[in-house]
Amino acid sequence: MRLRPSLLDPLFAPVTTLPGVGPKLGKLLDKLLGDETRPARVIDLLFRLPTGAIDRRPSPSIADAPIGEVATFNAQVTEHRPAPPTKAKAPYRIIVEDETGDVTLVFFHADVRHLLQTLPIGAYRLISGKLELWDGMRQMVHPDRILDPKFAATLPAIEPVYGLTEGIGARVMTRIAASAAEKCPDLAEWQDPGFLAKSGFPPFFEAMQALHHPPDLKAIEGDTIARRRVAYDELLASQIALALVRRQQKKLAGRATAGDGVLRRRIEGALPFTLTDGQRQALSDIHDDMEKPERMLRLLQGDVGSGKTVVALMAMAAAAEAGRQSVLMAPTEILARQHAERLAPLAEAAGLKLALLTGREKGPGRARVLEGLANGEIAIAVGTHALFQEGVAFRDLALAIVDEQHRFGVHQRLLLGSKGEAVDILVMTATPIPRTLSLTWFGDMDISVLAEKPAGRKPIATKAISLDRYDEVVGAVGRAVEAGAQVYWVCPLVQESDTLDVAAAQERFDALHEFFGDRVGLLHGQMPGRDKDAAMSAFVAGQTRILISTTVIEVGVDVPNASVMVIEHAERFGLAQLHQLRGRIGRGSAASTCLLLYKGPLGPVAEARLTIMRETEDGFRIAEEDLRLRGEGEVLGTKQSGSPDWQIARPETDGDLLAAARDDARLLIERDPHLEGPRGEAVRTLLYLFERDVAIRLLRAG
Ligand code: ADP
Ligand code: MG
Repeated sequence: MRLRPSLLDPLFAPVTTLPGVGPKLGKLLDKLLGDETRPARVIDLLFRLPTGAIDRRPSPSIADAPIGEVATFNAQVTEHRPAPPTKAKAPYRIIVEDETGDVTLVFFHADVRHLLQTLPIGAYRLISGKLELWDGMRQMVHPDRILDPKFAATLPAIEPVYGLTEGIGARVMTRIAASAAEKCPDLAEWQDPGFLAKSGFPPFFEAMQALHHPPDLKAIEGDTIARRRVAYDELLASQIALALVRRQQKKLAGRATAGDGVLRRRIEGALPFTLTDGQRQALSDIHDDMEKPERMLRLLQGDVGSGKTVVALMAMAAAAEAGRQSVLMAPTEILARQHAERLAPLAEAAGLKLALLTGREKGPGRARVLEGLANGEIAIAVGTHALFQEGVAFRDLALAIVDEQHRFGVHQRLLLGSKGEAVDILVMTATPIPRTLSLTWFGDMDISVLAEKPAGRKPIATKAISLDRYDEVVGAVGRAVEAGAQVYWVCPLVQESDTLDVAAAQERFDALHEFFGDRVGLLHGQMPGRDKDAAMSAFVAGQTRILISTTVIEVGVDVPNASVMVIEHAERFGLAQLHQLRGRIGRGSAASTCLLLYKGPLGPVAEARLTIMRETEDGFRIAEEDLRLRGEGEVLGTKQSGSPDWQIARPETDGDLLAAARDDARLLIERDPHLEGPRGEAVRTLLYLFERDVAIRLLRAG
């Protein structure tokens, strides 16, 4: 297959190729949109749609301009009122008026020369900003826009607003998003002509422009034809990729991997507990699959804390008995490290070599691991998605296990399968997936369920408490720590954002550090990897008693002595996420408590979530309720980690589009298996545009 069509090159270029985006802005955007492997690209901006809009249509007069919101009006500058010399900190005021009234423009720390230039007395100006009443007078602090009426046309009537990030102002964000949209090329149509005629969809290019230049306020939230067009494209790309993958899976025969049980028995002997019946049943399902010559594609479903990890280890030991290799892939660095640390002694007890491979293993250490994987010395590799990057080769990979798959996209998971011939795949998840959905999104999978939890777990007492009672909560945490407990304290965001009053982990750390001193640790995603490890190990070792963190601890982290969890702004979390978080406690022998701190007033959905959390610990029931409250797509997390953080399709309302895309994809692949016909060519562009890497590889392989 030819490489990516050069027409798409401007979209895949770094954001710094956009006018006005220098290295400094580029770095900030990298943080927002890039990942370990690549900088932020123009396409990442293109698919990041506005989250809101500001109405900047001018009011006929000052008297008509709305108070308390953004207002836009024409007025004449009539007076400058500098701060009195005695009050150097007072603002600089400028009065503007029309025949219906006046407005005081207020400027703090004013650059007077600049104000004299932009607002000279007598001049007419188009002014836009938040209009307020102050002592009965209209005033506007720091107008957003001041324009000579000659240039009124440059002010869009509806200005899109984009999700902000630390250090990038709203105006700058809007400007660079607009220049990203400008880079979008007009591409050959990939949608089926019949379908297109029926749907009345605009071309992709036009849809993209409409999304970034909303014609009215409703267009932002609403279900516009432009959004549906691009949503369909996204679904079509996914469904074509899935169709290609399914075809490939059918083509590849499996290999039988049969062990003699020796290593498994040694590991079992080294375990500090006996396996539950559910674990034994799952293992027997898995071994049966592995012994068959077909490929295994099995989902191991078990609620948080049900003991999936040890099942993974035993399955990997079975592969090792047959002299073959396995990988266990975790969604986060922290989790990969924890798995490696936990499993290494057990693997060693069986005489197996286990190695860790993430994006952070570098230099000679990494080279040694790569060598061990290539020559087969390493039987078990634990890591992140770095495991299936190019350059990682195995001597004889038999089994790929993906932990907590709801964090991974289906395409990433399938990439693992491409590392070995006929690799058996086991996907482990705490999120129950309804059968119909798993068929739709993942193709057919066999399922094993761990229904019971290991014996001896105590129920978790869950309470919802208003953030107003923060002081009491700190007191209760203090008492729990005195009594020997360890505490997770989860905050939603890393840094105080300008627009949201999110309790920041850093800020909370500072506040609690004053109280508890060095017994408090901090862990968040933007810390350097080594600091993350240190924070995590200090908590595991009990040196720190309270771990302030962001949701990085959401998946899989296992510290049995931690028995208290505080979740701040619980109303901002989804139900599945709350359940995952809470699953970090209730693992040891002590009774556990989960405090959900919320900021009222609660909306009906948030309230329902907190109620369900108080009522049950049953992951299946929580998943059902989650489905009911949020819709299927979000439960499944069809967003792909490692790929751009956007999703235009809304599976809960775009079911009709999904069905149409699925049918279209099947037909297309049937008629033009290698996508070489005229429509096939356009569809290839679509696959590149939506970065369906697996599909592209499969097409290249022929
Ligand atoms: P999850 O299914 O959420 O990944 P883990 O595999 O992390 O759960 O297991 C949770 C905890 O339960 C771990 O501390 C693990 O050692 C322990 N565990 C697993 N299986 C058993 C068992 N059969 N009996 C007692 N404890 C177990
Ligand atoms: Mg786990």
